Amino acid sequence: MAMICVQDAEIIILQLVDALKETETISLDEATGRILAQSISSQLDFPYWDNSAMDGYGVRFEDVSQCSSENPITLDIITEIPAGIQPQTTLKSGQACRIFTGAMLPDGVDTIIMQENTSKQGDKIVILSPPKYPGEFVRKKGTFYQAGNILLKPGVTINEPEIAVLATAQCPTVTVYRRPSVAILSTGNELITPSQTLQAGQIIDSNQYALRAFILKNGGCPICLGIVDDNPKILKQKIIAAINCADIVLSTGGVSVGDYDYIDNILKELGGKIEVNGVAIKPGKPLTVAKFDNGCVYFGLPGNPVSALVSCWRFVQPALQKLSGLKGDHKPKFFKAKSSHNLSAKGQRETYIWGQLKLVNGDYIFELANGSQNSANLINLALTNGLAVLPIGITQINQGEVVTVLSL
Ligand code: AMP
Ligand code: MG
Repeated sequence: MAMICVQDAEIIILQLVDALKETETISLDEATGRILAQSISSQLDFPYWDNSAMDGYGVRFEDVSQCSSENPITLDIITEIPAGIQPQTTLKSGQACRIFTGAMLPDGVDTIIMQENTSKQGDKIVILSPPKYPGEFVRKKGTFYQAGNILLKPGVTINEPEIAVLATAQCPTVTVYRRPSVAILSTGNELITPSQTLQAGQIIDSNQYALRAFILKNGGCPICLGIVDDNPKILKQKIIAAINCADIVLSTGGVSVGDYDYIDNILKELGGKIEVNGVAIKPGKPLTVAKFDNGCVYFGLPGNPVSALVSCWRFVQPALQKLSGLKGDHKPKFFKAKSSHNLSAKGQRETYIWGQLKLVNGDYIFELANGSQNSANLINLALTNGLAVLPIGITQINQGEVVTVLSL
């Protein structure tokens, strides 16, 4: 299978994934970051009733519309209405009520005079300047929202503003899509866990942890299957288990052309349809993506730590978003930024250069990570929040020139 370009790989991968249908109903307390799976509406108008937008005095507009500081109007204060109380009186001409922000308007009040434009004299209030229009500083019932209309549609991420809306719509529980389950396995005879003692020639498995964090950050449910030796029989059993327990499988290593790279063959033996096998991207060329009849999508990611993460950011993240039920185009976020350094690439593959996207005096700047841009160098990957993209054919972006940056 021929190597394909990044954009083709992206399209193929997104087509392999369908949004989850299964939902669960959870407490609003647990809903942060989840994807809404129901339409939300409320039986209440918002505001629920006419209320005051200010601390001040409730009046009848016609009583005070002609007043001024030279010609103030004095009204009798007949009652005080704090927020939370249902007013019991009806205001007549010549009367005012003391009222506070959020308090319900009594019958007869149509306008609020802010406290600052009044002068209190015993049980009377002197109005020193007229309201600009009838209804000034009144939040009218239903002006923000009318009962029965749709407040939120399925497919949005529930963050703090949506939580506020759900709370106000009196939804103590909410129906969300279930989290996508993602199995992770690290392949390689050389790998040990971080708690094992390093022997000569071994490599500590960082991918398992990095990928787990990536899945958690993207709303998935990681299933960590650990380290698997480069033994075709054992690998095959682990892959079968992974395919049967997860919506997506991420394995790292074993997809290159080395003697111990068995993944592609095993996927074929298990009936996986290989959809991607090599992408013109650097780092991350040896990417294998296969689809299984049970719907599972398998990503055989390169073993090098930077390659594995770049592949996740560029290809797995959009797939995971689509799977999760999130509506939208499922594309990575690209920004234009001024490069603080010269950036170079060989030009044969779309090249992703890691560093930091910063906002300096209102402009985005891309700052190249210190140290070697080597796909095994996970050390200078720390603090990366942006990947500068040099398309095929571009070998140099000079300092001060604009570059496209994938924002992480
Ligand atoms: P492979 O694609 O299996 O040949 O792996 C390429 C490189 O990535 C080798 O140097 C591996 O030792 C390294 N590597 C593979 N898997 C991991 C892992 N889970 N964590 C850290 N490095 C890894
Ligand atoms: Mg390997």
